[in-house]
Amino acid sequence: MSVNYAAGLSPYPDKGKCGLPEIFDPPDELERKICQLADLIQNSFSVVFHTGAGISTASGIPDFRGPNGVWTMEEQGLVPKFDTTFENARPSKTHMALLELHRVGILHFLVSQNIDGLHVRSGFPRNKLAELHGNMFVEECMKCGKQYVRDTVVGTMGLKPTGRLCDASKHRGLRSCRGKLMDTILDWEDSLPDRDLHLATEASRTSMQTCAFMVT
Ligand SMILES: [Zn+2]
Repeated sequence: MSVNYAAGLSPYPDKGKCGLPEIFDPPDELERKICQLADLIQNSFSVVFHTGAGISTASGIPDFRGPNGVWTMEEQGLVPKFDTTFENARPSKTHMALLELHRVGILHFLVSQNIDGLHVRSGFPRNKLAELHGNMFVEECMKCGKQYVRDTVVGTMGLKPTGRLCDASKHRGLRSCRGKLMDTILDWEDSLPDRDLHLATEASRTSMQTCAFMVT
């Protein structure tokens, strides 16, 4: 859950503007925006979506700066409310809609700031996904770079060793790598991961000629 995630990061004074109200459009305005979005998608050559914490609140994972966000509650001296664990959380309708858009060939690439792993767990292909802040279920070998997607959260945050070793084979399978595995979750001052940032930049640049969408 985001709560553990937040507690696992270093202290950081400036967490931005917290507690802004959520905006709900009236039904006719919502309908108009949906039609506009559908038109844009239909007329786009290359579609990239960027997603943020808001798409996982329906899965029971709190966001950070929303009315009940982790930083918002922290600012008020309150304990953030969460309805699930990362392992028990299920992809929301938004996650499944994005998967379907990809499946029918409309959505070409997905960029996410979310660390909850729900895009991967929804079945979205990892080679069409950039997780810019890491994934709680993924650990990576510090020696050979192989990544492992686990069924449970890997247990550490801030690019720290998880206590497990890489079993990737090398030299025709005679020896395994044995490199230390580390989590992929960025702390406040960590740089974005090179591979994901490169893929996200390239895909977004291509889509700039047509259209990119943000769902936060
Ligand atoms: Zn390795």
